[in-house]
Amino acid sequence: MRHSPPSEATRSAAPAEAAPERVTPMMAQYIEIKAANPDCLLFYRMGDFYELFFRDAEIASRRLGIVLTKRGKHQGDDIPMCGVPVDRADDYLQRLIAAGHRVAVCEQTEDPAEAKKRGNKSVVKRDVVRLVTPGTITEERLLEPDRASLLIAVARRKTGEAASLYGLAAIDISTGRFTVMETPQERLGIEFSRLEPREIICPDAIHDDPELKEFWREIAVPVTPLARDGLDAASAERRLKEFFGVATLDAFGHFSRAEIAAAGAALAYVERTQLGARPPLSAPVRDSGSATMLIDAATRANLELTRTLGGERQGSLLATIDRTVTPGDARLLAEWLAGPLTDPAAIAARHDAVELLVANGALREDLRRALEKVPDVARALARLSLDRGGPRDLAALGAGLTAAREVAALLVRRGDLPAELARAARALGETDPDLPRRLTEALAEELPLNRRDGRFVREGHDATLDELRLLQVDSRKVIAQLQARYATETGCRTLRIKHNAMLGYFVEVPQAMGEEFLKEPWRATFVHRQTMSDAMRFSSVELSELEARIASAADRALKLELAIFAQLTEMVLAQAEPIKEAALALAGLDVVAALADLAAREGWSRPVIDSSVAFTIERGRHPVVEAALKRDGKPFVANDTELSPPGTEAKGGRICLITGPNMAGKSTFLRQNALIAVLAQMGSFVPAASAHIGIVDRLFSRVGAADDLARGRSTFMVEMVETAAILNQAGPRALVILDEIGRGTATFDGLSIAWAAIENLHEVNRCRSLFATHYHELTALGDRLDRVANATVRVTEWKGEVVFLHEVVPGAADRSYGIQVAKLAGLPPAVVERARAILGELEKTEREKPVASLVDDLPLFAAPVRRPVPAVADDQPDELREALAGVEPDEMTPREALEALYRLKGLA
Ligand code: ADP
Ligand code: MG
Repeated sequence: MRHSPPSEATRSAAPAEAAPERVTPMMAQYIEIKAANPDCLLFYRMGDFYELFFRDAEIASRRLGIVLTKRGKHQGDDIPMCGVPVDRADDYLQRLIAAGHRVAVCEQTEDPAEAKKRGNKSVVKRDVVRLVTPGTITEERLLEPDRASLLIAVARRKTGEAASLYGLAAIDISTGRFTVMETPQERLGIEFSRLEPREIICPDAIHDDPELKEFWREIAVPVTPLARDGLDAASAERRLKEFFGVATLDAFGHFSRAEIAAAGAALAYVERTQLGARPPLSAPVRDSGSATMLIDAATRANLELTRTLGGERQGSLLATIDRTVTPGDARLLAEWLAGPLTDPAAIAARHDAVELLVANGALREDLRRALEKVPDVARALARLSLDRGGPRDLAALGAGLTAAREVAALLVRRGDLPAELARAARALGETDPDLPRRLTEALAEELPLNRRDGRFVREGHDATLDELRLLQVDSRKVIAQLQARYATETGCRTLRIKHNAMLGYFVEVPQAMGEEFLKEPWRATFVHRQTMSDAMRFSSVELSELEARIASAADRALKLELAIFAQLTEMVLAQAEPIKEAALALAGLDVVAALADLAAREGWSRPVIDSSVAFTIERGRHPVVEAALKRDGKPFVANDTELSPPGTEAKGGRICLITGPNMAGKSTFLRQNALIAVLAQMGSFVPAASAHIGIVDRLFSRVGAADDLARGRSTFMVEMVETAAILNQAGPRALVILDEIGRGTATFDGLSIAWAAIENLHEVNRCRSLFATHYHELTALGDRLDRVANATVRVTEWKGEVVFLHEVVPGAADRSYGIQVAKLAGLPPAVVERARAILGELEKTEREKPVASLVDDLPLFAAPVRRPVPAVADDQPDELREALAGVEPDEMTPREALEALYRLKGLA
């Protein structure tokens, strides 16, 4: 395996061909272990530290900002070394993982005392117990509570000469979820942006495929290529069958070869990183990806669905609508938002559930109060299955399952539930009522993080444990009791039990009494140890036993607690499946209740979703902008949208062309409609008085002149590549949002491109579209194209200042008010005055030859596109036509399309 990025990884970390005679035994061991894990940073356990050596040390010290030191020499050179304390290793791991590194954790697998027995020079046995990689972590402190942690494996199968289908398998080891799906190459980006994996693995061949090189580079997720061995469908199938203990995979559904290969690779990788620990994976199920609205990465970013353009959760649509009461459930909300559904019935099922809880506020409140007590059950269960759990994970399960029964009771009491809620109630009812009781009975109130810290078993739970603890804490009291007893029995009131390093515990009596002890009957009880000047010292069987018990009490108490922990864990894991189902049901309920709370408090309404291509919104609002304005005490102006086809559906949806000055609210209006579609189809109510939406199967949103310096493209190039993608891909069910496309170039260029794009949308794509522009010349198209409707955002002028009304009305803007806006922004008065004068001149010229009149001069765009290519004489080889015939528009990425266009142009 290799690893990229960061490609600097650690392959060259330890020179393997070290001269053996000059290497200390420990270094030899290090080099051997490192050689077996060349693609990971090696955390090598030494006492209370994990040490890193050689290049690993250099990388870690740089990444973590810790001091680089030296330890001994290797082949004459100093060995660079740095270390992190074991008890703070998580923080360091997190930072290394976040930077895309993988870490092999190497522990001491025997007591150093054992090693000593083999001779002074012998090295403590060590072994890698775990590989920590970005996509396979389970620790609470390393995971983001409100985000899934997916590892995705990719495989592919050829479906024709040049066509392939990709199998994706996603495992969330922190919850055990395992899904597979198949997708064509052009949708890989969409799926990855929906699933947001933490780590991707794929065979070398896919990783190094020149066609995908750029794709992997842009994806900003660590991609690990794997050597081919064991990645074929046959061995993948064997591995899956073995892991799930089934004779055939048919039990799980019908999977394609690429899906099976991907699933097997994902499983193999998980097994490899967990080194023997068995993760609680559910059987693979097909991801509903194909039944979700397609939203590419640029659109997601642009609409700020789960993150703002700055990368923050705060300020995104997700953060604005998230009213879930536990972070684990926010994961599910994020998932719903990332993949709005496209099946009207499935959407209606979610709406039914939300509706019931909107209408029934008391039930909703009760549910939410009960759900608040639910910890992250899924992740706790996963840690326990991997033997990485702590007492708090057991407690989490107890609390979760107790709450689950409470929630189930609330639902059952209400009765007559919509399907989604009934299903949840059933799943919750299937957990064992005894389990949470037994956990509560066994566990103390205050729990340590690690089971090794002990003291997590409740007092009174186990008599032996109680006694051991008594010995531990109260050894003095027990000794005092024995001393009192001996004193009474022997009648020697000055008898004392004392302790020293040489004798351990002993009985001390005055000389005279000591003499008695040497005789019968006392010599049967007391064994003489030492005679002092005025006292004698004795041991007794009872005392030595007590001593041994005290000495080992702590040890035994811990062992016993660990055994109880193991029992409890086993009891929990025996019910892993129903618990997992219950956790999912709880999360689903929290999401539905949260959406209902949102709808009830913010006055949202249930949208009508069907298979038409309607798009009619009354009094729609932008939830994020509205929330921001509300904080400043300002109202949001609601607006209507009408994109439904004006006549028969076959002609296509409407294009709404919005003009208006800067700051009027064009972008807000555009986005609010996209967000309403996403919300509606994810199963939420929508911020509108009413909404009728025919299923949107694909959503596009682009802004002109967006900066994308990171990818090294000029802003205009980006804008055009993205616009090309839309014009090439948007079908009749798409919803397209184009915001000031054409802004990134000279006026006439930009105007012409925007113009042609609108014509294409109208004649070719025929989809529902919103197009904002500051070129009011374009409004002339409204008269020529029957499904283009002009709208403008109203402004008025008051004492020379522009006042924004944020009200979208039919018609066109009379002018841009650019100078007024510039004045508002504080441009120096002289500059504003000068600009007014120049504008006056320009407008005079415009009046003499208005661009608007061009509309009447130009033929319609669609005609040339569809006109048959004129025949060419047969005997003439036509290079251009051949090249054209070789072009497969459906197979191309937008970038390739553009490149092809340039190539063709070059031939012409
Ligand atoms: P444009 O794209 O026309 O330049 P924006 O959509 O960016 O304008 O809106 C500018 C600002 O106007 C927003 O940040 C918001 O504060 C305010 N605004 C926009 N739409 C509304 C509305 N419907 N109601 C109230 N304020 C709005
Ligand atoms: Mg704008």
